[in-house]
Amino acid sequence: PLDELNDPTLLKVDGLVNGKWLKGKARFAVTDPATGHTLAEVADLGPRETKAAIDAANAAWPAWRNLTAKQRHALMLKWYQLLMEAQDDLARLMTAEQGKPLAEAKGEVAYGASFVEWFAEEAKRANGETLATFDNNKRILVTRQPVGVCAAITPWNFPLAMITRKVAPALAAGCPVVIKPAELTPLTALAAAELAVRAGIPAGVINVIPSTDAAAVGKVLCESDVVRHLSFTGSTEVGRILMAQCAPTIKKLSLELGGNAPFLVFDDADLDSAVEGAVASKYRNAGQTCVCTNRFYVQDKVYDAFVKKLAAKVKTLKVGNGFDAGVTQGPLIEPAAVAKVEKHVKDALKKGGKVVTGGHKLKGQFFEPTVIADAQPGMLLAREETFGPIAPVFRFKTEQEAIDAANATEFGLASYFYARDVGRVTRVSEGLEYGMVGVNTGLISSEQVPFGGVKQSGLGREGSSHGMDEYLEMKYICLGDV
Ligand code: ADP
Repeated sequence: PLDELNDPTLLKVDGLVNGKWLKGKARFAVTDPATGHTLAEVADLGPRETKAAIDAANAAWPAWRNLTAKQRHALMLKWYQLLMEAQDDLARLMTAEQGKPLAEAKGEVAYGASFVEWFAEEAKRANGETLATFDNNKRILVTRQPVGVCAAITPWNFPLAMITRKVAPALAAGCPVVIKPAELTPLTALAAAELAVRAGIPAGVINVIPSTDAAAVGKVLCESDVVRHLSFTGSTEVGRILMAQCAPTIKKLSLELGGNAPFLVFDDADLDSAVEGAVASKYRNAGQTCVCTNRFYVQDKVYDAFVKKLAAKVKTLKVGNGFDAGVTQGPLIEPAAVAKVEKHVKDALKKGGKVVTGGHKLKGQFFEPTVIADAQPGMLLAREETFGPIAPVFRFKTEQEAIDAANATEFGLASYFYARDVGRVTRVSEGLEYGMVGVNTGLISSEQVPFGGVKQSGLGREGSSHGMDEYLEMKYICLGDV
């Protein structure tokens, strides 16, 4: 699939440190999850190159922070334009290494690039304040300065957007970054870095360390006292390890961890619209996003009708290679992901669940889009993030019961519900212990919103004007002797 790139030089297979492409000593294969074929052999870098990248970033920091906001804005805008001009090629790389359908990949390129555009603009608004004074001989200023060298460790499910969502606000704030992309999807990351180089972002400001030894690279990034901020998107389990490793250096942390999103459908919901939102939220990226619905809760009176309509719609989804026309469901990322989905389905069936549609593994890493009725709280899929195309549907009677069930998890990232009654909409929005609530919609992501979770889903917010705060330190200046 990569023979058809418009610009074959976007296929970068080495790491980027201080503006130089590093081959490293070893290489690792990147495979296409739809076919199992090797796409490229990528440089396998390690602690040594990571340290070099931190040093390069630190050396590049003064010049980068001392550019005017408008100069950083101009370089970032150029990067944004190059990303969009390369939309087709980036999407091909993404579908090849990640599996999502090509149309969805193009959508992610636009979404990923939008963070660069947004934060290019925000660069110009890192304003401070002057406060009323407590002493007439003093003036009080509050400024905001870049935090310093930043590290970004990113997952495979959004190979571009999870990088730009961290790198763009860092750059806008005046910080250089060291990125450790997911080992399953380094090609999109490296191509995006190549476009940043072409845009004129100076050497050392963006460094990329592809590696199969995530633990060793992560340890160097966490333990460094030059690195002042770590942003991580991935599992809660790894998030905990990184948080502990960052404790000795009291590093600033942004963590976007696991979710277990509930989707509530009340009696007064518009059912067709709820089904549409359900499919959009559940089956995007074959169920492999941290905001994908994991659990559907449907009120008694509309339960049977909802399940029937949902299953009918799910039957129209088309599973296949993301490059084939009309495909809406690609493969799962790796064999372990397929095994987890199988385990969750098997467990649900053992505990009384009923498959309404789907339920089977297909050849390779594909799994049928599935709906399971009569889901129960004791099932694995009630507690764990399935991260696959399985929709378990639970039944509830009262509003409070639904809110309690939705909140009965250590996670708190995205949640959704469908209802019309204005009082109910207010009560449920406020009652859900989640960082994000979609009301009468299944799609909530955009560069303009503060994305993030509560409880064990993470710390901090990405996107919106608030996304910059993570990369800026507030400084209070007391100007005496006036
Ligand atoms: P996922 O379930 O999305 O694969 P992970 O948390 O395993 O989530 O991976 C997300 C990112 O974290 C990837 O870039 C992966 O390489 C990296 N990672 C995994 N384990 C560690 C670790 N111990 N230290 C640092 N990074 C890690």
